[in-house]
Amino acid sequence: MQTTIVVALGGNAILKPGEKGTAAQQMANVKSTCRSIVQLIKRGHRVVITHGNGPQVGNILIQNHSARDIVPAMPLDICGAESQGLIGYMIQQAMHNEIAREGLRASVVTVLTQVVVDPADPAFANPTKPIGPFYTEEEAKRFVAERGEVWKEDAGRGWRKVVPSPLPVQIFEKRAIESLLDRGEVVIAAGGGGIPVIKEGEMLRGVEAVIDKDLASAKLATDIGADVLLILTDVEKVALNYRTPSQVFLDSMTVEEARRYMAEGHFKAGSMGPKVQASINFASSGGLAIIASLDRCLDALDGRSGTRVSR
Ligand code: ADP
Ligand code: MG
Repeated sequence: MQTTIVVALGGNAILKPGEKGTAAQQMANVKSTCRSIVQLIKRGHRVVITHGNGPQVGNILIQNHSARDIVPAMPLDICGAESQGLIGYMIQQAMHNEIAREGLRASVVTVLTQVVVDPADPAFANPTKPIGPFYTEEEAKRFVAERGEVWKEDAGRGWRKVVPSPLPVQIFEKRAIESLLDRGEVVIAAGGGGIPVIKEGEMLRGVEAVIDKDLASAKLATDIGADVLLILTDVEKVALNYRTPSQVFLDSMTVEEARRYMAEGHFKAGSMGPKVQASINFASSGGLAIIASLDRCLDALDGRSGTRVSR
């Protein structure tokens, strides 16, 4: 039987720390990312690629704000869709090129993905996720008064808007993704965690929120019945007592152990926390989750690198 793998790409797959984010830099990073992912295709696996969008959507928000007197600024859901398109394009083309270079035959398609969230999710009452550019206190206070938004001071760097980060409830384009996979396509989906939408009867409406990309990837992987959720980031393994003298890197953990370590506070919220939670969510229903370094993708699948989470 063919293995279906959801590969969740971290920020470093597209932009490295310290880079400005020129098109050439992002394309070069995406190219090397795709060189490693193509090895999975070469082995005959079915592959869905998901990715983050933080820096890219941040830049789109800056562009919208800077040009707001010339071109109407777009809301966050539309900016999210734009980022899925621009990142999807880069990955789609780079994957095609690497597939062709290997002499393989497979086509690649990006699916603009909406992810349904629950308007009653407690996250809506407690926005936590900072997005977009930094503003002055005066500007921030005006947005709070005029638009009822939530703004927070960010470690002396200025004021930033914070938005809710609700849990993914339904990957709306799931069936389209499945039928593309069945036809042998490589699919890029749920970029940036998906575009958050709420259901009003049969109708959908975009909302101002950000869904964690690892949690959305786990939801997608579970719903399509994937065998493996491969979360690729910038560390080789998950550690206990991370960055302390008693740090130990883990080769594997059971779902139960992962839950316990999580409760003990080993994984930082907003970075390793959601990856371990995503792994728990996926592995609970029987799949294998692996958190590994971007450049050790095959090694991770073969058990030579990364941290495995299973039931
Ligand atoms: P990505 O863009 O891939 O989602 P993040 O920065 O969100 O990357 O998460 C990866 C980071 O999580 C690592 O660079 C590491 O510094 C941090 N991290 C926090 N806690 C741990 C831990 N317990 N073990 C390993 N890495 C951790
Ligand atoms: Mg992250």
